[in-house]
Amino acid sequence: MDSVGVAAAAPDAGPGPAWQSKCPWGAPSTTSISCSLADVMSEQLAKELQLEEENAAFPEVVAAAEGPFITGENIDTSSDLMLAQMLQMEFDREYDAQLRREEKKINGDSKVSISFENYRKVHPYDSDSSEDEVDWQDTRHDPYRADKPTTTPRRGFIGKGKDITTKHDEVVCGRKNTARMENFAPEFQVGDGIGMDLKLSNQVFNALKQHAYSEERRSARLHEKKEHSTAEKAVDPKTRLLLYKMVNSGMLETITGCISTGKESVVFHAYGGKSATEDKVIPPECAIKVFKTTLNEFKNRDKYIKDDYRFKDRFSKLNPRKIIRMWAEKEMHNLTRMQNAGIPCPQVVILKKHVLVMSFIGQDQVPAPKLKDVTLSNEDMKKAYYQVLNMMQQLYRECNLVHADLSEYNMLWHDGKVWLIDVSQSVEPTHPHGLEFLFRDCRNVSQFFQKGGVAEALNERELFNAVSGLNITADNEVDFQAEIEALEKMNEDHVQNHGKKLSTFSSDGDPPIYDE
Ligand code: ADP
Ligand code: MN
Repeated sequence: MDSVGVAAAAPDAGPGPAWQSKCPWGAPSTTSISCSLADVMSEQLAKELQLEEENAAFPEVVAAAEGPFITGENIDTSSDLMLAQMLQMEFDREYDAQLRREEKKINGDSKVSISFENYRKVHPYDSDSSEDEVDWQDTRHDPYRADKPTTTPRRGFIGKGKDITTKHDEVVCGRKNTARMENFAPEFQVGDGIGMDLKLSNQVFNALKQHAYSEERRSARLHEKKEHSTAEKAVDPKTRLLLYKMVNSGMLETITGCISTGKESVVFHAYGGKSATEDKVIPPECAIKVFKTTLNEFKNRDKYIKDDYRFKDRFSKLNPRKIIRMWAEKEMHNLTRMQNAGIPCPQVVILKKHVLVMSFIGQDQVPAPKLKDVTLSNEDMKKAYYQVLNMMQQLYRECNLVHADLSEYNMLWHDGKVWLIDVSQSVEPTHPHGLEFLFRDCRNVSQFFQKGGVAEALNERELFNAVSGLNITADNEVDFQAEIEALEKMNEDHVQNHGKKLSTFSSDGDPPIYDE
């Protein structure tokens, strides 16, 4: 430092610069804050800088320990949302702190360093604090910037005679510039420059600053993109926390992205991880169906669940959030029944609240096409038809279920066969509208395959009888539907009189099995 002439003008004791108040051997603090070129060059300041640099090395650790995220007394914990968000942030910060420690450990003092920036959860430019919304140059602590305008001598220089130093002094500016690099974002690799007596020219500093700044923006943009392209956007913080925990526990390897955004659910693709219990195997690829917790869309679906006697008693006692969970639960139960009957369908992995994880039908992140989107050969089309017919019969007889939303939209073509999905609304045939739902399913299936050129395809009424084993003889749709409703009413009356439903509708024996 002695090469600098101005160093001779060491700071006086007494009311002095701000740095003195923090300096362990400095004079007791005074309120006066000023900063002169002399201060800039002092040994103490250099030490203080060092200290600050060390402190700055783990800002997140401090934030995690002292931040308001769990320790604060006056947080509003009445809000579930808040709580979930706080937990999430706490998780993320802890994770990042650990990441920084590891980064530091690996890099040590090396001039060449690796950055874990991309793995960080809380992005440095994504902080909630308003600080980061303002240009970092203006807000971050700059030891060289006085809090009130410095009284730079009008004459533009200090010192006397041969010790005169102007504000343009190369060495002073160079050091100043070097120290200022500290203000760059923490990820901006500046090597050991800050710790050395390095004199950066204004030109180099400005170029670096420019680069750091554009990097910052680029990074922020990238992060934004990431945020809006994956799970993050489509789900609320509570759901995000659930998903996060699934990944964190290792059950899921990664959640890669969204496959479908419907009115009632959002479906994501994920790579399976490892199960905590040995007996359970997580499929290599999973589909995560998140039932939307915005309630409006579910209102018109009440009829599927409140009259399903399996759920009826519980339904009336539940709040809307719990009802959404019942949809997920219902889908799980129905899938399990289908799985047991050997019907090709997703296999349930786990149910957590309104989030259902199942095996993925498809490969390498590409979901199997819906029947409506795939062009099948005549032969495959015919094969698909008979398979669907059989599945409908199995569903009805072995699973005691009616799909209730069966169409080419909820059938996937994979591995040369049809897979049934989307069974959250499926009901038992004795549901007050169960047979109507079945008839609608039959109409969709019949029309699809007839239009698809399958000459053998039964019409909707024949299909209905074939599936249900009932023998409704009406030869037109109106009468047919009237008979269906009459049957449903009979069942309801039976409930009124006997307090329980018929286990099945009376039929003329088992439904005939149609096969190729
Ligand atoms: P929605 O009620 O929104 O129709 P679905 O269960 O039908 O919900 O899922 C929506 C879409 O997500 C499906 O059409 C299908 O493309 C995809 N999907 C759902 N489950 C799976 C799965 N297990 N494997 C592959 N794709 C799936
Ligand atoms: Mn669907």
